[in-house]
Amino acid sequence: MIRLICVAAFSLVLASAPCLAAGDAAPPVHHNVEAQLDPASGNLEVIDILTVRGRAIVEFKLAPWLAVKVLLLDGQQTEATATGDIWRLPLPDSGAHRIEVRLRGVVPPLPTDGRPGASPSAVSGEEGSYLSAYAGWIPVTDDDWIAYRLEVEVPTPYRAVATGRLEAETLGETANRAVFSADYPAGPPALFAGPYKVRERRERGIRMRTYFHREVDDLSAGYLDDAARYLLRFQERIGPYPFQDFHIVSSPLPVGLGFPNLTYIGRMVLPLPFMRGRSLAHEVLHNWWGNGVAVDYASGNWAEGLTTYMADYALAVEEGAGKALEMRLNWLRNYAALPAERDVPITAFTAKRHDAGQVIGYDKVAFIFHMLRNELGEAAFSDALRLFWRQQRFRVAGWSELRQAFEEAAARDLGWFFHQWLERTGGPILTLDDVRLREDGNAFRVTLTIRQDSPAYRLTIPVAIDTAAGPERRRIVLDAPQTTATWDLNARPTEVRIDPDYDLFRRLHPEEAPPILRDLTLAADALTIIAVDEAAADRTARQLAERLFDTAVQLAPDDPSKLGQAPLLIVGTTPQVEAFLAKAGLDGVPDSLVGLGTARVWTVRRDNGEPMLVIAADDVQALEALLRPLPHYGGKSYLVFDGRRAVDVGIWPVVQSPLSRQPVR
Ligand SMILES: [Zn+2]
Repeated sequence: MIRLICVAAFSLVLASAPCLAAGDAAPPVHHNVEAQLDPASGNLEVIDILTVRGRAIVEFKLAPWLAVKVLLLDGQQTEATATGDIWRLPLPDSGAHRIEVRLRGVVPPLPTDGRPGASPSAVSGEEGSYLSAYAGWIPVTDDDWIAYRLEVEVPTPYRAVATGRLEAETLGETANRAVFSADYPAGPPALFAGPYKVRERRERGIRMRTYFHREVDDLSAGYLDDAARYLLRFQERIGPYPFQDFHIVSSPLPVGLGFPNLTYIGRMVLPLPFMRGRSLAHEVLHNWWGNGVAVDYASGNWAEGLTTYMADYALAVEEGAGKALEMRLNWLRNYAALPAERDVPITAFTAKRHDAGQVIGYDKVAFIFHMLRNELGEAAFSDALRLFWRQQRFRVAGWSELRQAFEEAAARDLGWFFHQWLERTGGPILTLDDVRLREDGNAFRVTLTIRQDSPAYRLTIPVAIDTAAGPERRRIVLDAPQTTATWDLNARPTEVRIDPDYDLFRRLHPEEAPPILRDLTLAADALTIIAVDEAAADRTARQLAERLFDTAVQLAPDDPSKLGQAPLLIVGTTPQVEAFLAKAGLDGVPDSLVGLGTARVWTVRRDNGEPMLVIAADDVQALEALLRPLPHYGGKSYLVFDGRRAVDVGIWPVVQSPLSRQPVR
């Protein structure tokens, strides 16, 4: 599954900046920008009039592809010194000054290979332009926040859109103009243009628009409907939407980027159902978490996990308890696949740079919010989020501000909770000892002991007891290395299960965690075997291995008897893969996959418990067809492909959980 790369645009430079409140003071810099952009040629002309105050020098970043044509300080020509792309302009005093900068240049061309994940900061071509907030297409100072007015002109039939409030627009014979502004704490504007069809809808004062390429124009209505639904839902749940507009902009690049009041999504992925579902909800919610409240990165990034919990996970809950459970179990399986040496505490997560960051910063943090909600109950949990929003809107906030809001709403100390989940690396491993049963006529007494390693986590563990009269539920508080609980029942217990629905973040037992692709692709010591008989297949197999791993591919020794104990990836064409497996004494194709599709992919544990991933494609084309889709299935155990399409996908079943036991007398 493709994940959006979330760029909470204005928070990127804020780092550990102090709290900023709208109305505390005028923003330190105001930009009045006029831009003329021709997407097809990439020609860009910018006039920016900056009003600054309270400083002796102005430092700003400019894109290297722009040339300074005119530089005026208070109307007089002046000079600035440049070191790399950073410009310095001394000021006569710390009063208010007006700096006029005229820039001209050619935006770098759109990449032609369209590699997924490529996320350039400034590109332009016939199919559209993208100028990111921090590319330096206007002078970017290191101020925490700025205010701006941006007027942009593009030739017809292009349309331009930027972050900020849409103030005005004129559609002309030869050119289209639009004006955007931000008078609230904002980062520099990001600018987009393309041969767009623009559609609009208003919902409770919020203007929503799609700027779509013609070939995806028929998706507009669906996107506007869903965006409206999400906006109203989050507004209800958290507090008023902090902006006036929300735009969904189609991109010629294979990206998914979030900005204040705008999301920029590759036109190739717009038609995919999960894009309009979870991914859109996720990006809409970033207007509150990440853009409405900026992240104080000094204590780690809470916004991705909270957004995942309130958007992605909430949609799973809506689909049913089974779907929600499946998502939690997936998070735990992903975590089980993370090698201990790549694990970090939550406070160390700032942004997702690879798959390991996803497991910690998105999955584990989302799970922490799930446990917090179970601990506090829905009412206090909800109150805390609303309170946090009221207190921190347009400010920079960290985990400690979140904790304060939760403690205030719940009227209790939660230091232990935040400490154990944010500052400790890892998670508890629970063990269920023998479950004892004593019976006396129709009275049944069940006793069980749960253990965990030291230092102990404080956990409220759900317990399910199946009895002859139906299921019963209990809870045990475990805040020491071990605890014993005794319950009297009126019916004979047949099975006792602890944490049966995976409500606790913990290390799964190997029996609970069937191998998935990620077990192998996250293993830094994995060895790769390329099993092919022609050069073309060899190139493709290597390319596929490179795309799957987070780290560099290490090839295994040629002699199968020297494979040692390492995790293994075997990738190639079917006869060669099968011959290798036989020669190395490894298990062959699972019975359930034999002869299916054009390629089969499966995981298995080696005798020593290390994971092995096998990819067997019928020919070079079938192998090549896996390049794009396969890396998105890290959470699965096996797949059957018919060309590029995954026709059968699944996780091997859990055979026997050690946290489930039958009571013994
Ligand atoms: Zn995100």
